[in-house]
Amino acid sequence: MSFSQGRPYRAIPGPSVVPDSVLRAMHRAAPNIYEGEIVGMTEGITRDLRRIARTDGNVAMYICNGHGAWEAALANLIRAGDQVLVCGVDHFALGWAEVARRLQAEVEFLDFGKQSPVDPNRIEERLRQDHAGQIKAVLVTHVDTATSIRNDVAAVRQAMDRAAHPALLAADCIASLACERMEMDDWGVDVLVAASQKGLMLPPGLGFVFFNDRAAAVRGQISDCDVSAYWDWVPRAKPEKFYEYFGGTAPTHHLFGLRVALDMLHAEGIENVWARHEHLARAIWAACDIWSEGGSVRLNVRDIENRSRAVTALQAGLPNGAGLRQWIEENTEVTLGIGLGMATPDNPLASGYFRIGHMGHVNAHMVLGVLASIQAGLEYLKIPHGAGGLDAAIRIVASRQLAGV
Ligand SMILES: *Cc1c(COP(=O)(O)O)cnc(C)c1O
Repeated sequence: MSFSQGRPYRAIPGPSVVPDSVLRAMHRAAPNIYEGEIVGMTEGITRDLRRIARTDGNVAMYICNGHGAWEAALANLIRAGDQVLVCGVDHFALGWAEVARRLQAEVEFLDFGKQSPVDPNRIEERLRQDHAGQIKAVLVTHVDTATSIRNDVAAVRQAMDRAAHPALLAADCIASLACERMEMDDWGVDVLVAASQKGLMLPPGLGFVFFNDRAAAVRGQISDCDVSAYWDWVPRAKPEKFYEYFGGTAPTHHLFGLRVALDMLHAEGIENVWARHEHLARAIWAACDIWSEGGSVRLNVRDIENRSRAVTALQAGLPNGAGLRQWIEENTEVTLGIGLGMATPDNPLASGYFRIGHMGHVNAHMVLGVLASIQAGLEYLKIPHGAGGLDAAIRIVASRQLAGV
């Protein structure tokens, strides 16, 4: 018997599902890039992107993935020898720290482990020790996509303010933008990094750096010769000619897709987008909590406040947890994310980690289908799990009680 008919579902934390209307908008002949539709459209896109990030600041767009956006942000802020404080929960903070190091920053990594969010008090304490104000930027990941920890970015800003420290606050919102509440201006974020292939529902290929006037002033203190020509955000944010938006040929088809994706987000309303993610995440956790009663399945993040609404990392232990992902893919056509950065020498069960991506173009039937597929795998592989996980998720969906976000 074959199960291979029907539409496969990649429930991975990026690239996320691309809506058909976005795909259709991209399916067209190459446009005129000298004048006409695309020129006006791109200006509108920058305006609407800023609405999504809740900022009146600037946005620079790049043809790159999230790693490129990391580098784009730092290339505008850092000169060799500058001090940077990276507040880390694992994989993605380590990645951004490495980019800073390669730009010859002096990087200090405050490590908060793989199970809990950054602790603003520790950040405050560290900043208070920096009497000379040497630390130029504090880097924090809003959602760490590997552990599914959500950090309280607003609380990090409050900690910086309590320490009366002048550093910029830069947030990696690649996994969270258009999934989780993010108020760039209200929360005092100076630099916000994002990419196209998660909440924005596009294929990978566009990176975004939002920055406010404080960050622009820091960039302004660096001579142009010390900023890489390609990553320089100045011409991209305030282009005089259309080609300056992208430092060369524009990513034409991504822009057509992005226009439609932004229209979808605005039609739904960003508050509703966040509420939908919240609702679906709660359905997923409800199922996981019941499954956990069997003693084998475990959510990585215990406290609901610290959990991402876009991705959920969990572990299926003995017996057979390591084979769960593969069984689900082969038998239900649902692809789950691999465990990322969880394997340590003292954790032989790390192979049982996997992640559910629930970001972007997702609705209740998609999430329920994923949960049903996971439960089928737990049954088949005889992984001990509490009975009725799927029913618990269904009750959340049926309640339609949207928690405040
Ligand atoms: C996906 C992701 C990245 C990396 O993005 P790429 O497009 O794979 O380079 C960085 N940070 C976070 C939080 C992410 O979720």
